[in-house]
Amino acid sequence: MLDVSWAVRWVRLTAEAVGLAKAELTELDRRIGDGDHGENLDRGYRAVVERLDALDPEPENVGDVLKLVATTLMSKVGGASGPLYGTAYLRAAKATAVPSLDASAVVALVEGALDGVTARGKAVPGEKTMVDAWQAAADAAAAAAHEGASAEEVLRRASTAATAGAASTTSMVATKGRASYLGDRSAGSADPGATSTALILDAAVRAVGE
Ligand code: ADP
Ligand code: MG
Ligand code: MG
Repeated sequence: MLDVSWAVRWVRLTAEAVGLAKAELTELDRRIGDGDHGENLDRGYRAVVERLDALDPEPENVGDVLKLVATTLMSKVGGASGPLYGTAYLRAAKATAVPSLDASAVVALVEGALDGVTARGKAVPGEKTMVDAWQAAADAAAAAAHEGASAEEVLRRASTAATAGAASTTSMVATKGRASYLGDRSAGSADPGATSTALILDAAVRAVGE
């Protein structure tokens, strides 16, 4: 069930995954940016976990958990990804003001996150940013829900698509964010933010099974 306990597990697993992938994310950002994406996110999610640990009682709605992530990332993560992920989680939170998610609520969560990122960063698909992962996830989630998939299956399809979306950024030339300063030389390496988005959604799927 995609309830508040799932949301808490999701956030904790994301923090763990970001910690483990810190060096990889930083290396990706070193190639096409300023080499801080892993550190930025790790600092943010560590603060998120501290706030989660201090939370008592457990919140009522899934969205309350996501809102805590949003406000924490906004205040703790400098750089582009802090406000981008902050706004993504904030919109996702607004779309999930319920105790547990059905298939259409999962779609609303992922579409909310995508809307947040695009409202903030004004990037469109194909510009080698986290939008490429979120857009693929949102499209796959909507298609799965349309086919009558369960909430968990919608989430799995979104996660698989985000991973493919992140991989697709490798061949792209960046036209937004720091990587755009490199022009054609930005091709050949995956976008760090798209890669972290795939990690976040993978953690959401793993949180279901626990
Ligand atoms: P900074 O670039 O300020 O050092 P980070 O390294 O933490 O911040 O995050 C970089 C990531 O932010 C990029 O890999 C990309 O996915 C994302 N990003 C940057 N600008 C935009 C934008 N305008 N729209 C969407 N995503 C963006
Ligand atoms: Mg950076
Ligand atoms: Mg930076």
